Amino acid sequence: MIEDCEQGKNAITGTLSCRDGRRFEALCHRTALSQGDILCESDQELEAVYFPVSGVISLAMAVNNQPQLELGMIGRDGMLGATLSLGILSAPMRAVVQVEGTALVMTASQFQEELRANPRLLKSVHYYQLRLMMQTEHTAVCLNVHQIESRLARWLLMIRDLGFADTFHLTHKQLARALGVRRSGITQAVGSLNQRDLISHSRGKIRILDHAGLKSAACDCYSALINRYRTVSGIG
Ligand SMILES: [Zn+2]
Repeated sequence: MIEDCEQGKNAITGTLSCRDGRRFEALCHRTALSQGDILCESDQELEAVYFPVSGVISLAMAVNNQPQLELGMIGRDGMLGATLSLGILSAPMRAVVQVEGTALVMTASQFQEELRANPRLLKSVHYYQLRLMMQTEHTAVCLNVHQIESRLARWLLMIRDLGFADTFHLTHKQLARALGVRRSGITQAVGSLNQRDLISHSRGKIRILDHAGLKSAACDCYSALINRYRTVSGIG
């Protein structure tokens, strides 16, 4: 899904020239992303932006005091805080670390200066914001249309793509929260994918065993989103 993102690099900082990239990274500090860390709350002013080089950040929203519902995910393909490129200073959604990793962090004010000074960076962030919008659209549709098992397969494939790993530490409780379903539904779906030898699950660790098989088990949203990404590739 993030075929244009080299392993070990962030796709947005990776679009900068070598010299600009070195200067940009010198303005950042590197931080560990620990599972469950809340990086920002919705509607609060963004103080910092994050460029993951590993791990996955989940974007979630609460409606009518219901549990937070995940609507998007950010990995090496992008960044947290892209809305600053549109002049929006507050976070549209809560951001929580879903899979641990590492990120480059820059203050929001410094990032705004960089956007003003570097049209190439601005274009790249706009492009990513468009991709993120496509992802949240598909997630919203998927929530209402597809069955838990095929949604879980899609979600695991996305986590794999964003985190560049086949093994993740995820409990049934975290999976239920991410997909906005009851734990019993997740237990059933994990059991079914496990039985088909597509994944293994033990002690909070999920491993993808059969990537092609999991793709077949996933709902259409997975391939539809990749196709939509391709239609806009080259804009950034
Ligand atoms: Zn779907």
